[in-house]
Amino acid sequence: MDARAKTGVSIRSAAKRYGPVIALDDVSLDIEPGEFVSLLGPSGSGKTTLLGILGGFVQPSSGSVWVGERDITFAPPHKRNIGIVFQNYALFPHMTVGENVAFPLRARRDPKAGWAKKVADALAMVELSGYESRNISQLSGGQRQRVALARAMVFEPQLILMDEPLSALDKQLRETMQIELRRLHRKLGATIVYVTHDQREALTMSDRVAVLKNGKLVQIDTPERLYDRPCDAFVASFIGEATLLDVRRAGDDAVRLGDAVLRTAHPLPRGERLLLAVQTEKLVIDGGATGPAANKLTCRVTEVLYQGESLRVFATLADGTSISLRQPGNHNARRRIPAPGEHMTVVLDPQDTIVVPA
Ligand code: ADP
Ligand code: MG
Repeated sequence: MDARAKTGVSIRSAAKRYGPVIALDDVSLDIEPGEFVSLLGPSGSGKTTLLGILGGFVQPSSGSVWVGERDITFAPPHKRNIGIVFQNYALFPHMTVGENVAFPLRARRDPKAGWAKKVADALAMVELSGYESRNISQLSGGQRQRVALARAMVFEPQLILMDEPLSALDKQLRETMQIELRRLHRKLGATIVYVTHDQREALTMSDRVAVLKNGKLVQIDTPERLYDRPCDAFVASFIGEATLLDVRRAGDDAVRLGDAVLRTAHPLPRGERLLLAVQTEKLVIDGGATGPAANKLTCRVTEVLYQGESLRVFATLADGTSISLRQPGNHNARRRIPAPGEHMTVVLDPQDTIVVPA
């Protein structure tokens, strides 16, 4: 455990080209020992390529990969002591659960006498104790994914790589597994790099989230920082449910949106023309209990969408700009929503007034 607990991973200026395609463009990333880092981005943004470079399946065109003090850029996958879990489990259907989990031990020529205990320990970790002799076909999707996890952990790797491991599961099971993976991570203390295109999953599970776009690392931050302080319009619109509105600089700490001047608690980016990024839940219908510093906007409700646990309210400002906000589904909050056609005042705290470059 100790050696593993001290092992971080660094990627220095990694790039990967496939002919004219730049799959990964000068990415540097330091992952702390024991950290859970997600790689988040749309399809084709370079997540799997970056994971492949860490795992040794993809040779970078330039740059290097380090585990602790060791340069592993050209080390083959089986010499890296890395556990791997893919979306489609990649279990061997003709082998039992126990044989599947023991497979990495066999591949590594681990002394056979210790296999049974290691397999039992790994299965206990994923709460499948006693499943050794079951067939893969007898297991549910969630159980198969747990077997794949046990197989990735059985040789106590320093680093575990996961490429969209839950995306084949239905929503409910996926959420259960997210919580289990988080718990497992705490118990194991291993470093985990986790690929997902699901922003909510990344926010839920990670110590830090690295956002990729067109092969470039755009921002890496804690979930809270990423959500509250996106660095640009791409991150702001990829995370959460943001509306981007054209605004103009109005001094050092304010922007003009139509007729309204909105103050921000954060430094403004350079430039005259800027974008205000507003997450739906950060706009609040004015209940009179806000501080004097709060930004207020008058608008007219155009549509109210009932969505179960919450309602989405669409409205337009005087100049026709549309905005939207969320109200919780409880009746107390629902009574505050005016009918379509009526006016309302919405409040945006200066802390929640996020301005990004246009
Ligand atoms: P993601 O996992 O974020 O969806 P990938 O890392 O798989 O993205 O791909 C990044 C880019 O590199 C894409 O444009 C993809 O088409 C390209 N790419 C990935 N692997 C190969 C390959 N083996 N040959 C050619 N192009 C590839
Ligand atoms: Mg991928």
